[in-house]
Amino acid sequence: RYASTKYDVVVIGGGPGGYVAAIKAAQLGYNTACIEKRGALGGTCLNVGCIPSKSLLNNSHLYHQIKHDSENRGIAIDGEVSVNFPKLMEAKEKAVKQLTGGIEMLFKKNKVTYIKGSGAFVDEKKVSVTPIDGSEELELEADHFIVATGSEPTPFPGITIDEERIVTSTGVLALKEIPKRLSIIGGGIIGLEMASVYSRLGSEVTVIEFQNAIGAGMDAEVAKTSQKLLAKQGLKFKLGTKVVSGVRDGEVVKIEVEDVKSGKKEDLEADVLLVAIGRRPYTEGLALEKAGLELDNKGRLVIDSQYRTKHDHIRVIGDVTFGPMLAHKAEEEGIAAAEYIKHGHGHVNYGNIPSVMYTHPEVAWVGLNEEQLKEQGIKYKVGKFPFIANSRAKTNLDTDGFVKFLADAETQRVLGVHIVGPNAGEMIAEAGLALEYGASTEDIARTCHAHPTLSEAFKEAALSTFDKPINF
Ligand code: FAD
Repeated sequence: RYASTKYDVVVIGGGPGGYVAAIKAAQLGYNTACIEKRGALGGTCLNVGCIPSKSLLNNSHLYHQIKHDSENRGIAIDGEVSVNFPKLMEAKEKAVKQLTGGIEMLFKKNKVTYIKGSGAFVDEKKVSVTPIDGSEELELEADHFIVATGSEPTPFPGITIDEERIVTSTGVLALKEIPKRLSIIGGGIIGLEMASVYSRLGSEVTVIEFQNAIGAGMDAEVAKTSQKLLAKQGLKFKLGTKVVSGVRDGEVVKIEVEDVKSGKKEDLEADVLLVAIGRRPYTEGLALEKAGLELDNKGRLVIDSQYRTKHDHIRVIGDVTFGPMLAHKAEEEGIAAAEYIKHGHGHVNYGNIPSVMYTHPEVAWVGLNEEQLKEQGIKYKVGKFPFIANSRAKTNLDTDGFVKFLADAETQRVLGVHIVGPNAGEMIAEAGLALEYGASTEDIARTCHAHPTLSEAFKEAALSTFDKPINF
């Protein structure tokens, strides 16, 4: 069925890590195959992660804005503005289909063999594939393997997922109707994005978080501001709160929570409970032991700095190994792994991987935050500029948030940038470039930024680390 059973490179997993690695390997001249068992390329990200969530975020934001924020913009709504939920979901599915289909086209264009099935090691030189169409098992040999099998939602001990009333991120992206009450365990990025979607669509949303702050990893000041803004939009937060149990009872979910400090218990009820406490590496069915590969105590495949396992020719990238579980991190590693195979060197700067939370306003950051700088004893200066003083944000009636620069106290070198505000996710790319090139805040402040744009707030925040801003 396939042209060959012997390849230069076989990639297991067709997510952002695997598909990018496969294309890059093929571009570097290797006869490459990619095994994917989902029946569609793009992995978690395109099928049940980044892409469907952003479709729902974008369209729910538009709806919310039209419904609640149009009069003062001079837009009169004649008649009822309402959600057509099945259609909203259809738009999401269409985006997913187009993009996953797009990768298939890219595979064709780059001559990557796409093998639809589940891969398992036979030994360190061979994998078997169980095709998803039920056809006969096949064995593939390769000089190099790249494992990119991704991750899955971490289960909550004692809570049974049915993907209907008690759901993971996969289920919450495919609900049949808008729940009246949605409770979410976990105030991380995935939890808060889904909280935003359903709150805009009319759900009463309660976010239960064990820690005393939302958004694990965010700069504390940014997390606090973002939480305040989300609370203003109607999200309820129960921070410092532990979930004791969550049980489906007919068409409702009964949740028992406990205040971490006082131990006081409380009973909550929801129509849907989303468990979003993180993700864990996924290696089920890979038969790692046949290739003698090891997992660490968090279930991650162990690798060296060139993504190699104990076998030089088996490399591992993406969510299934160390580092932040982000699509762009997996993609960078995919390219680097293929380049290591070809040239013996590759490049990923782990100090410069941006994070974005696509709520409104967005939150985006890259580099170190204030807490980390203090911990590491690095002397730094802060430069902040609020969007309320930015002409474009004011014109757009979208002024919540600020840009915050953290720069080395002596050299002005940019150490971290933290943004809560409109378009933060796009704006953070400039911060990444600054970090990559070792720019100082003065370099940015002396770079002409177009007027009127939100990026002028970026420039003035940089300026504020060493001089007075002009517009604030
Ligand atoms: P995956 O995307 O998980 O792909 C692994 C693939 O391997 C899967 O398709 C799986 O079917 C396949 N596979 C596994 N085992 C086998 C096997 N034995 N044989 C064959 N195939 C196999 N990240 C961002 O950067 N930005 C976002 O906005 C964002 N939003 C997210 C929203 C949600 C709701 C979720 C859940 C995640 C989000 N992420 C986001 C995280 C992102 O999806 C992951 O970091 C990314 O998909 C990891 O890529 P990967 O290639 O390592 O693994």
